[in-house]
Amino acid sequence: KAKELGRGQYFVVDDKLTEEVHERGKLQQDMRQAIERGEFRLVYHPRMCARTRKPIAAEALLRWDHPERGPIPPDQFIPIAEETGFITVLSRWVVQTAVFQLRSWMAMGLQPLPVSLNLSAADLMLQDQAQEIGALLSELEVPPSLLQVEMTESSLLSDRERVQEQLAELAGMGVELLIDDFGTGYSSLAYLHQFQVHKLKIDRSFVQRLTHAPDALLTRQIVEIGKGLGLCVVAEGVETASQADLLTAMGCDELQGFYFNKPLDLAAYQALLEEQQEAGAAPASGNAQA
Ligand code: C2E
Ligand code: MG
Ligand code: MG
Ligand code: MG
Repeated sequence: KAKELGRGQYFVVDDKLTEEVHERGKLQQDMRQAIERGEFRLVYHPRMCARTRKPIAAEALLRWDHPERGPIPPDQFIPIAEETGFITVLSRWVVQTAVFQLRSWMAMGLQPLPVSLNLSAADLMLQDQAQEIGALLSELEVPPSLLQVEMTESSLLSDRERVQEQLAELAGMGVELLIDDFGTGYSSLAYLHQFQVHKLKIDRSFVQRLTHAPDALLTRQIVEIGKGLGLCVVAEGVETASQADLLTAMGCDELQGFYFNKPLDLAAYQALLEEQQEAGAAPASGNAQA
């Protein structure tokens, strides 16, 4: 009996697995056409200055509007793209779209805030990634200070020398570098200084647990480590006023999260930029470089 049950279970799992593999295969195929079909778009999630609570940058986040399945969240298709290597094609689209968008805001007479985008390990291992980004920026006359690159700790470890070379070149031209989801990977503080990183983005999980005393201590220590390394510390996933206030008191420089905004579509984000500009005030950071 037990054996039969065991076999039965085996087949159930197997069916599910087959279906899943099939599903992934379909998504992989669809993804290749999705770029030409214009199914991808970027949304913009503002990052606030902790002190002034005004937007000082935005993170570009990828969205896929699948014609049959509707919106597919990035957590569902980025991992597939990373497995197949298609991510580098997708990232090229993200970089181009973001830089073209910056160009177009400038052409409209808006003062765009810096845009950060997410690159994967495979992107950072491309030998001419930095050069390609640099060429695009200069071709469109977009100041490199308007572009920032986010990467996770694990992508720094993939092929250190190659990644380090690309990052050094990006930093050299004035593109700021952020470590994303900080605290969740294999952080070795020893290697952090080898990379010319500018900002640490503390992972949302630490922000969520802020109200529990022992976890708050951990978050505080992470902020202190970042400050100790001379880095700008950003908190992501800020959902409440008390989280925002605690993080500000701990010394976080920038805050991002649903408490301030959901990621905004192009029209809404542009409206925010216009509003900012009409408010007339100088950019919130107080250290805006032209
Ligand atoms: P991430 O880079 O850590 O981006 C932050 C994610 O947290 C975003 O989800 C954002 O919408 C969400 N988030 C921000 N604030 C809050 C909050 O207060 N509460 C909650 N519950 N969530 C918040 P999203 O857009 O679904 O992206 C998920 C992940 O997918 C990103 O995590 C990033 O790893 C990846 N991703 C998104 N766009 C791209 C891209 O263009 N390229 C690559 N390689 N990865 C991307
Ligand atoms: Mg990110
Ligand atoms: Mg993150
Ligand atoms: Mg993430």
